[in-house]
Amino acid sequence: MRSFQDEFATVGRWIDRYLSTPGEYPVLSRSEPGEIAAGLPPEAPENGEPFSRIIEDFERIILPGITHWNSPRFFAYFATSAAPVAVHAEALAAALDVKAMLWRSSPAATELEEVVMEWLRKLIGLPDVFTGMIFDTASIGGFTALAAARESLDLGIRDRGMTGRSLPPLRVYITEQTHSHIEKACIALGIGRENVVKVACDDRYRMSVEDLAAQLDGDAAAGMRPMCIVATAGTTSTTSRDPIEEIAATARQRRVWLHVDAAYAGVAAVMPEFRWILAGAESADSIVVNPHKWLFVPMDCSALYVRDFALLRKTFSLVPEYLRTPEERVVNYMDYGLQLGRRFRALKLWFVLRSFGAEGLRARLRGHIRLAQKFAGWIKAEPAWELLAPHPFSVVCFRYAPAGFGETQLDELNAALLEAVNASGEIFISHTKLEGRFALRLAIGNLRTTEDDVALAWRILRQEASKV
Ligand code: PLP
Repeated sequence: MRSFQDEFATVGRWIDRYLSTPGEYPVLSRSEPGEIAAGLPPEAPENGEPFSRIIEDFERIILPGITHWNSPRFFAYFATSAAPVAVHAEALAAALDVKAMLWRSSPAATELEEVVMEWLRKLIGLPDVFTGMIFDTASIGGFTALAAARESLDLGIRDRGMTGRSLPPLRVYITEQTHSHIEKACIALGIGRENVVKVACDDRYRMSVEDLAAQLDGDAAAGMRPMCIVATAGTTSTTSRDPIEEIAATARQRRVWLHVDAAYAGVAAVMPEFRWILAGAESADSIVVNPHKWLFVPMDCSALYVRDFALLRKTFSLVPEYLRTPEERVVNYMDYGLQLGRRFRALKLWFVLRSFGAEGLRARLRGHIRLAQKFAGWIKAEPAWELLAPHPFSVVCFRYAPAGFGETQLDELNAALLEAVNASGEIFISHTKLEGRFALRLAIGNLRTTEDDVALAWRILRQEASKV
């Protein structure tokens, strides 16, 4: 028992030190491919090893292979961070080792999930027609929504499958800006990539409603079956927002399922001045919002809200004898998705919502947006730099564009610049392609990021640009 206490104290001290100074590490891991694996023995030990040796190896072998998402100078992808209070919740959840699958397998896990999903729903202003459930990721929440959309067509696919009989092609409508998990879900659900229709975008990376309507009507006339439209509120590359209100009207007129992917930007709706981000989503059939992206909940925690919760049950429920329980009027979450055993994720979301309060969350998000706007202002003021997309939230797409370079050369220049700034170990940014152009991307979402960190990023970018 004594040694357990020592171990906990060691880990507690380690986490405390780490989360107090995550900026001390190179942001992007400098390890070479295969280097970490090469430092580990090829077989598991025959006999147990002391904790002190394990933790020593954690620091010596594992830590150098960590890219520090908690660093205040992590500006890549969608920057995130683990609120320390949520780390405590994760430790408690791991200690309890709950499987939140049946109500009786831990009533508190089920009921807390129901309650925090309601809290979050109200915080982002969704109407009470929606019921929420936590999934590990938006990708799995999206897959679940698409499976429900497929089931809603009443084609008997659940029982009879899709092969060996004549079914119309089922069609899913996205844009080239839609996150790739939707297309993956279509692969897994037997829709097929050829039935994923890429609707045109306007010059601000938003779905064209006219093209959507034309595609839907053309497909229906050709005997195909429109199954789902995916609108995004905060696309991955630029954080653009599809015109959800008009898309919702188009979907309603034609009775097509509307899924709103608000994985990153949906939480912005906690700020009254950003409620517009989810305008129109009240008419959707399903919506995904990720607390593990921009709400300081550590990976993983994604909320799926659906209008017809019973349909999820109809899609997925299959109860073997050994999981039958007598309780009535309870939710057994295993009935509403693919997974049986589920982590107790509601605990960390509860800790975060309570510890920050709605006002605390709003203040952080406003701070991030302010920093991103400041950075965009610096880019705009420099003639040799160029903004490549609108930047309504905390992500800025830009490039170094000195005069006299052709498009191909600019792509090469910016790709080299990306490598150079990331190799510095001081900051980590990522990239995307916009209309074929290589774009640098700076995302702010970390609790610890200050204006000094963003100014440092700008300094390093200019410094490295002068060298490439
Ligand atoms: N949707 C959008 C708009 C995203 O940007 C991302 C990831 O960045 C995802 C979905 C997938 O998120 P997850 O990692 O939770 O599956």
